[in-house]
Amino acid sequence: MGRQPTRKVKSQVATATTTALVETNASINGTSPSGRKSAEGYAKVEVKKTTVSKRKIVQADDDFENDSPAGDETKKPTPKKRRTKAEKEEDNMPLAPRTAISSLKRAMYIGAHVSGAGGVQNSVQNAVNIGANAFALFLKSQRKWANPPLADEAKTQFHAAVKEHGYAAGKHVLPHGSYLVNLAQADKTKADQAYDNFVDDLQRCDALGIRLYNFHPGSTGGDSMEAACSRIAAQLNKSHKATKSVITVLENMCGSGNVVGSRFEELRDIISHVEDKSRVGVCIDTCHAFAAGYDLRSPEAFAETVAKFDEIVGLKYLRAFHLNDSKAPLGSHRDLHANIGTGFLGLRAFHNIMNHESFQNLPMVLETPIDEKGPDGKTVENKQIWTDEIKLLESLIGRDPEDPELLAKATALQAQGADERKKIQDQVDKKTQKDAAAAAKKAAAGKGKAKKKVVDEDSDPECDSCTE
Ligand SMILES: [Zn+2]
Ligand SMILES: [Zn+2]
Repeated sequence: MGRQPTRKVKSQVATATTTALVETNASINGTSPSGRKSAEGYAKVEVKKTTVSKRKIVQADDDFENDSPAGDETKKPTPKKRRTKAEKEEDNMPLAPRTAISSLKRAMYIGAHVSGAGGVQNSVQNAVNIGANAFALFLKSQRKWANPPLADEAKTQFHAAVKEHGYAAGKHVLPHGSYLVNLAQADKTKADQAYDNFVDDLQRCDALGIRLYNFHPGSTGGDSMEAACSRIAAQLNKSHKATKSVITVLENMCGSGNVVGSRFEELRDIISHVEDKSRVGVCIDTCHAFAAGYDLRSPEAFAETVAKFDEIVGLKYLRAFHLNDSKAPLGSHRDLHANIGTGFLGLRAFHNIMNHESFQNLPMVLETPIDEKGPDGKTVENKQIWTDEIKLLESLIGRDPEDPELLAKATALQAQGADERKKIQDQVDKKTQKDAAAAAKKAAAGKGKAKKKVVDEDSDPECDSCTE
């Protein structure tokens, strides 16, 4: 795969820029981070005012826009501006050093979904900058069908960068698939388009020495769940034959209705139809699991959820984590990522995860929100948030959960997220009441209409489909 002629690439850059303006929460840079304290147990790194730059800004030489999967259903486009050279240089300064895994009581590789804007090779420095020992990235635009091929120099530089910084690309780098791809698609033309995009990503993984590839299972499109799971498995089987060694990792979802993968049974059913079981795995997103009804908060509830996963899917298939707190309550089926400790999961849930023996050596990726409002009202990305969350999570390893300092931290984080939790809880309560009233009304009107209600729920705009 050679590089496309410059003119072609440029024209696609222009498309990417326009798309970013419309579809992402891209904004400007240059405002100081605020309202976040450094995580306990490590020295806070001084951040200059201009250090926090907007990651989503599409530069002239960008291959694609880069939108972090922060699970925000309410994203609105905001204006953005280009960074100056000085700002770009400051953006490349590490906010904290990476923690040596050997210094941790358990080998937990924690990082975040970083930007690969300007080429996949840039993701490595972006991971270094936030002190990440694992990271996720998009291998191409996640919201466009047409993409230029992986450039040879991007590939060479990626290999050199992971080597230089000591990342095991085969173990701790977890690309995220395109939001457009639905492997459960029944329509032949659309299914082929989805497959082509999917297998192209897997081929990029092979070229980059990446062995884990995370993707959303898909949507039934109104068909039966059983048929959708078989179609996904059939696409996976085909893709495994077309590629060398990459493991296709199914992400659990939080949605209901047409969304595939919010129940462990659905993940099991897909895996059961996969011929080469060594090429398939699961990534648990903590926010999605919780919103789907799997509790992780108390040690008992956590143990029960892990046992359930082991019994239904099998822990041997667990390959990765997305670490997100949840702004929405248990079983609400809403995809709203919260910062660690501020959501309905709370810090104790993450203490459970950080101290679970069998989760060692898996990539654990934050997709928590880092957008903040600057003094001028414009949105800025504050990567210090991820830096702090990584250190906070690492500080939970081997720590007494009743440590007063830790309990105080947990309480402070809960207070920080209180307003947001209340807001979403109110929305969920209202919807529950509305649904109950509608169901009662329909039940009274006759059985035929009550059946129609089940179909309606799938297309309810308030019933969020997980997109992150
Ligand atoms: Zn996720
Ligand atoms: Zn999500």
